[in-house]
Amino acid sequence: MFALLRPGRLAHIGTWFPSSCAVCGRWPSPPSGEPVCHDCRLAFAPATTRCPTCALALPPDKPACAACSTADHAFRACFAAVDYTYPWRDLLHRFKFASQPAWARWFASMMWDQPGLRDAALACDWWLPIPLSRQRLAQRGYNQSWELTHALWRQAQRAAPQPHAFGACSARCDVLLKVMDTAEQHTLDRSKRLANLRAAFAVNPAALPAMQGKSVLLVDDVMTTGATMHLAARTLLNAGAASVTGAVFARTPAPEVS
Ligand SMILES: [Zn+2]
Ligand SMILES: [Zn+2]
Repeated sequence: MFALLRPGRLAHIGTWFPSSCAVCGRWPSPPSGEPVCHDCRLAFAPATTRCPTCALALPPDKPACAACSTADHAFRACFAAVDYTYPWRDLLHRFKFASQPAWARWFASMMWDQPGLRDAALACDWWLPIPLSRQRLAQRGYNQSWELTHALWRQAQRAAPQPHAFGACSARCDVLLKVMDTAEQHTLDRSKRLANLRAAFAVNPAALPAMQGKSVLLVDDVMTTGATMHLAARTLLNAGAASVTGAVFARTPAPEVS
């Protein structure tokens, strides 16, 4: 009984009741529990061509962004559901800082609908979130990236034709660690982010033997410059992962990406 009263569970109670659309305010937001109405989703989340290795929005006739065409990159592939613009920027801020972890299920369903993500995700052995430091986790009470990772994993379970068809993938929050607290990344430019992050990630030593040769799906809520995702992916590859595929809910569009 007491388990039902834990804060993480109480947050999900809001998904059982109708609510107004978090964008246009229309009530109720159909179906019950979804934060954004169908019309707003159609209007603000159009199908978008994206760079296959960094998920940057591209013109439909362009196969890859300039940076990924010339530079070495850590990802086998990368997916994003929306651009990090209105209204998603505000919704993600509320998801992250205003105690709305239950929205992860809806965000994950939008990620799951992106072309190519399902096959790429199901080909990965481990589904890992970008971690928070202990201090940040204690402040916020939950890691929004883990909420998304777990919601994606549940989505895949529900979509599997038979239970055993989903046996190979596991979602884990104990593999990639944030061993150093860093300043709020969104306040820094790219060079400062890299310097700040370079020593921030590590693989749990207990997971190292099992890491060898694993294919990893790395999940985060937002990719802005890509510095966080790339350094985390490099950490996993240096620790023995065979490949890393990225999946984020929102991707900052050019020209903010450097
Ligand atoms: Zn709406
Ligand atoms: Zn790219």
